[in-house]
Amino acid sequence: MAKKEFKAESKRLLEMMINSIYTQREIFLRELISNASDAVDKIYYKALTDDNLVFNKEDYYIKVTADKATRTLTIADTGIGMTKDELENNLGVIAKSGSLAFKKENEAQDGHNIIGQFGVGFYSAFMVADVVTVTSRALGSDEAFKWESEGADGYTIVPAEKAEVGTEIVMKIKPNTEDDNYDEFLEEYRLRAIIKKYSDFIRYPIKMEMSSRRPKEGEEGEFEEFKEEQTVNSMVPIWRKNKSELKDEDYANFYNEKRYGFDKPLKHVHLSADGAVRYQAILFIPENTPFDYYTKEFEKGLELYSNGVLIMDKCGDLLPDFFGFVKGMVDSEDLSLNISREMLQHDRQLKLIAKNIQSKIKSTLLSLLKDERDKYETFYKAFGRQLKFGVYNDYGMNKDVLQDLLLFTSSKEKKQVTLDEYVSRMPEEQKYIYYASGESVDRLEKLPQTEIVLDKGYEILYFTDDIDEFAIKIIASYKDKEFKSVSSGDLGIDSEEKDKEAEEKQSGNKELFEYMQSLLEGKVKSVKASKRLKSHPVCLTAEGELTIEMEKILKAMPS
Ligand code: ADP
Ligand code: MG
Repeated sequence: MAKKEFKAESKRLLEMMINSIYTQREIFLRELISNASDAVDKIYYKALTDDNLVFNKEDYYIKVTADKATRTLTIADTGIGMTKDELENNLGVIAKSGSLAFKKENEAQDGHNIIGQFGVGFYSAFMVADVVTVTSRALGSDEAFKWESEGADGYTIVPAEKAEVGTEIVMKIKPNTEDDNYDEFLEEYRLRAIIKKYSDFIRYPIKMEMSSRRPKEGEEGEFEEFKEEQTVNSMVPIWRKNKSELKDEDYANFYNEKRYGFDKPLKHVHLSADGAVRYQAILFIPENTPFDYYTKEFEKGLELYSNGVLIMDKCGDLLPDFFGFVKGMVDSEDLSLNISREMLQHDRQLKLIAKNIQSKIKSTLLSLLKDERDKYETFYKAFGRQLKFGVYNDYGMNKDVLQDLLLFTSSKEKKQVTLDEYVSRMPEEQKYIYYASGESVDRLEKLPQTEIVLDKGYEILYFTDDIDEFAIKIIASYKDKEFKSVSSGDLGIDSEEKDKEAEEKQSGNKELFEYMQSLLEGKVKSVKASKRLKSHPVCLTAEGELTIEMEKILKAMPS
């Protein structure tokens, strides 16, 4: 059957998309500046392989100009420009990224700083503008074209005049409404602040004509206004800066600007190592689980730079799988720029860096656990499963690294507890760390087997995740206390008296038990008088190593 294409109300779709990605209007400026920077970068990378093309740094810049009289904001760049086709394809097709295509085509050359990849940033201009006009002349062409649109209703492209290669975007800023102020996007100082906030590390100068006042010559006490061109951005990458100069906000902006995620990082670590290997790194613990995190599609890794130039987008060797959620970058002057991926894997320096980073992540998580418990629990909700898999995988090789980071729901106030907290609260005579596993805490609380343990005043850990019990079996014991399922044969709390009572019941009602067993033939192994029921009439118990829950999971696994 022939497939039909989806139809969509493009205007609504565009609005929904933009509003769901961007919570703040002001970021349209970041998006357009990033595009401009990408456009300049493209000339830069072309010049690396094309001898006819010379890249003089001073010729390349981005210029932002506001004009209150015409209510226009203009962003011009001297970048690679767009042909008529490119205007059509890149600005006329939502979610199409010419920059991503460029990166793919030019993969051979190591190193690119190009930011674009989603093909949606440009449309954020419509959050603040009624009309957007893009005039562009592509590198190597003497024709220019003008693309114009009032939003998702459509666009026009007509020939235009443009003296220099590059792109100029003119936005007709929306009028103020009762609820919304758009005038701010025509104020020089406001614009400068936005650029500083989001685009400070753009590697090319972002220039603005700023108004200033100076004393009037010859006229005492009089001042005159004049315009002066300023470069607004510092261009120095954040990781080269001194930690003391940076605020949490700066790191969060970097995180968003870098597209590490659309969420806010829960925590950042800024490292500057000067030992056996020199490197700088900024690591982030994200707040939310990326949508593809627990799928095969997810690719862990940190950005790897050599002396400020990107070598690899996602260097997986820098992170162990169990810390695969960490985002960020590493810059090392001790790595060579033209090192190949295969060589990188065996690079001694890289291994050292990876080792340092692993222990730094662990100590960061531990301090989060200790000092910012709420944040840690948020983190654990998003990535705790990964830690438990980490314990289980690789034959438990990493359990020592991870066991102190685990949290489980405890019968005590149904709070999340660490193993250490559990053990430190154990009454002296308690022999085991008790747990119950099942579908949900609610159901586990009703489990007959828990009653006798709780009655003793012992805590029970409730395992509701498939992996929990498997991970715990690998850990086996914590601070010399073994783990014990409440549904296992011997709980270690039965008194002699109870044993005797059960035995008497068993032998005294032999026929009844045999009858019950015959009724349940093939469903249970045996029917016995239990020594650990209190208010419940019956419970299921497992014999041997595997608990009932584990058996269920193993049976459900594809063989
Ligand atoms: P992204 O930047 O994620 O690719 P955008 O929606 O921001 O997506 O931009 C779409 C595409 O339009 C870019 O990939 C690029 O090819 C092109 N583009 C946008 N702005 C410019 C510009 N100033 N100069 C040249 N090309 C641009
Ligand atoms: Mg973009």
